Amino acid sequence: MKYFICIRDDVNSHLIADRLHSAFQENNFICDEENPELVISLGGDGTFLRSVHKYIDKLNQVSFVGIHTGKLGFFCDFTRNEIDEFIHDILYEKPKIYSHPLLKITHHDKEYYGLNEVRLENPFNTMICNVYINDALLENFRGNGLNFSTSTGASAYNRSLGGPLIDPRLNSIVLGEIASINHNAYRSLDSFLVLHESSKICIRGNFKRCLIGYDHLFESIKETELEDEIYVSLSSKVVKVLHYKDVDYIYRLRKAFVAD
Ligand code: NAP
Ligand code: MN
Repeated sequence: MKYFICIRDDVNSHLIADRLHSAFQENNFICDEENPELVISLGGDGTFLRSVHKYIDKLNQVSFVGIHTGKLGFFCDFTRNEIDEFIHDILYEKPKIYSHPLLKITHHDKEYYGLNEVRLENPFNTMICNVYINDALLENFRGNGLNFSTSTGASAYNRSLGGPLIDPRLNSIVLGEIASINHNAYRSLDSFLVLHESSKICIRGNFKRCLIGYDHLFESIKETELEDEIYVSLSSKVVKVLHYKDVDYIYRLRKAFVAD
């Protein structure tokens, strides 16, 4: 088995990585950063996102598994106190594989992917655009931006915007407004909209000084036109995550947001 460990840069994560390397190499696993079949993300949910983006062009040949060195995470089933169990499971158990679809945001011929979310934002001026869902005009939006979250990403930035938490087994797209302007002259939906997984969104407007955000990454829009178009939809790319134990979503929510 060819594997790689993506590590958050802290002492604890490095110590655990050393233990994993020894155990795997004793069992003839080969560490291969270029072409791993198994990627172990060691750190937090943020580390998991970075691991996925490192292999964004090789997702069909890689499976991911997460260890959280802090609390229990949304992408990580194991914590730092369960390393022996983790090694045992990787060596001897058969996991369930869950495929997380990625959101795609497209501007001209450039595509960006988000496991948590993709965003179109203008942090400097009012972003003005028309929002179409499956070719039907929803609204003329004015505000700082629009956030499109996956169901799994709903507990991340979407939640901070006041958006709903969504059972990750429902493949949805959650559209959320970032600081929309709503008064007598301008009005948008001003509510979160949970869309069907097949929805195709088109945003039409002038995107001068706008940013495309995708998970922890972003790109500034350089070539702008008076009337430009950006598309958002669920992509055919999926992140394969290995689950060696059933960690209930409600249990994750409780551990993350209610009580430790
Ligand atoms: P980051 O430090 O990597 O992550 C920010 C926080 O979000 C961390 O506490 C991280 O957990 C947590 N997180 C990531 N994915 C999550 C998920 N699916 N459910 C619940 N919590 C999650 O920050 P970054 O590099 O700027 O961006 C990475 C992600 O963080 C983005 O995709 C965005 O969703 C989120 N974020 C949220 C806010 C906000 O809520 N205001 C602001 C910026 C970014 P760990 O501690 O386990 O890594
Ligand atoms: Mn254009």
